[in-house]
Amino acid sequence: MSENVEILLQARDIKSTAMRMLILKHMLGFSRAFKLSDLEAVMETVDKSTIFRTITLFHEKQLIHSIDDGSGAIKYSVCSSNCNCSIGDTHAHFYCLHCYKTFCLDKVAVPDLKIPDNLVPISINLVIKGFCEECKKFAT
Ligand SMILES: [Zn+2]
Ligand SMILES: [Zn+2]
Ligand SMILES: [Zn+2]
Repeated sequence: MSENVEILLQARDIKSTAMRMLILKHMLGFSRAFKLSDLEAVMETVDKSTIFRTITLFHEKQLIHSIDDGSGAIKYSVCSSNCNCSIGDTHAHFYCLHCYKTFCLDKVAVPDLKIPDNLVPISINLVIKGFCEECKKFAT
C-alpha cells in the first residue's frame, strides 16, 4: 500500500514525503468524495495548514479533482491514473440529499455538449442529486 501511494505521487511529479504519502493514503480510504474537514477529522494529529497545503498541491498536480456539488464545501476525489482533468476526462458526480455524501460516477461521462464556438470551456460540473444506495429508503 505505501508503495502504491509513492507510485501515484511519482506519476504526478510530486515529491514523496512521509506526510504526503500518509495524507494520500487517507484520501484513498474514503469511498466517497472528501472535504477538508473530513481529512482533518481522520488525521487529528496533523496540522490543519499542512493538510490544506497538501490538498492544494495535489489538486494543482491533478492527483485529485474537485467537485462543487452545491453543498457549499468543495469536495475532492483521487483521480484515476489516466485522468488529466480535462473536459474529456470529466465524469458525473452523485450527491445524496439525505446523507450529503458525494460519489464519483467514474463510468458516467459528461455527454458531448454543443457549446457555442465563441466560448472557451475549461471545466464542466455535472452533479446528479438524489438518494444513494443506503438512503434510497428515504426517497419519496
Ligand atoms: Zn483528474
Ligand atoms: Zn445517502
Ligand atoms: Zn469524481
